[in-house]
Amino acid sequence: MVIDGHNDLVLRRWRGEPAKHIDLETAADAGFAGGFFAMYVPSPYDGDPLSTPYSMPFAAAIPFEEAARVTEELFATLRALPVRLAESVDDFREGEVTAIVHMEGAEAIADDLSNLADWYDRGLRSIGIVWSRPNVFAEGVPFRFPAPPDTGPGLTDAGRSLVQACNELGILVDVSHLNERGFWDVVETSSRPVVATHSNAHALCASTRNLTDAQLFAIRDSGGVVGVNFAVTFLREDGMNDFEKTGLDEIVRHVEYLAERMGIDHVAFGSDFDGAVVPAALGGVSGLPRLVDALRDRFEPDEVERITHGNWLRVLDATWR
Ligand SMILES: [Zn+2]
Repeated sequence: MVIDGHNDLVLRRWRGEPAKHIDLETAADAGFAGGFFAMYVPSPYDGDPLSTPYSMPFAAAIPFEEAARVTEELFATLRALPVRLAESVDDFREGEVTAIVHMEGAEAIADDLSNLADWYDRGLRSIGIVWSRPNVFAEGVPFRFPAPPDTGPGLTDAGRSLVQACNELGILVDVSHLNERGFWDVVETSSRPVVATHSNAHALCASTRNLTDAQLFAIRDSGGVVGVNFAVTFLREDGMNDFEKTGLDEIVRHVEYLAERMGIDHVAFGSDFDGAVVPAALGGVSGLPRLVDALRDRFEPDEVERITHGNWLRVLDATWR
């Protein structure tokens, strides 16, 4: 059973595009039990997404009104999918797909947090404070390679309040896409496990989207997890978008590195399915059994269980109860 830290199926459906990686008809048979389904308000982007190494200019902020309107549409799209919405870890079952309602970027939350509890009541259980752009709470990393994630200022006062309010309500706080100063502010502010739902090891692939060793140790010390991102440009040492020549071993390489640095209890999956270019050798959810087999060559059976779903369940339970 795989519980996954990030997918963008909702965005594709909202745009009227067919799924590329997650076929909900067959996903459960491939072991995909769901995970974080992102509601992401897209930034306009005219560049070539296949340009390599992957980089793009700093994206502009999105105003609250626009974000709130689009997020309503994204939420309606998510609710129309044939999936259960997760309220507790007991909602995850083998053979079914369960969705964690996740905001990727908190632009649809008012800066006084006046609509946060409402969103919780409607099912929101996880927030990525930023996507790779600034908002009233924090600043995201622009996509750069090779470059460190220290790209700007830390959390605003509203950002610190958001983290505290999420801690109190039982909403997971996700630091993927956050810049390094913001990251350290979250670590200092949060009383719950800190997670990066879809990021990799900066030591192996020097993208701004990946985490330095110091960040990995802080996530470990908080009891959190890092979901390994299957995006080719966040996996490869050269940052190139060469999905045909990128094997499952590149994913395994990051899993092994994270396990070595943080311990096996802090490593999970964060596929970025339907939001990124993943290795052709994986393809999509249909390739998950092959990936799990590759992990079985390197890890004990109980360790594979923790990576594929046990660690996410532990962190979610600690956050939601
Ligand atoms: Zn993302």
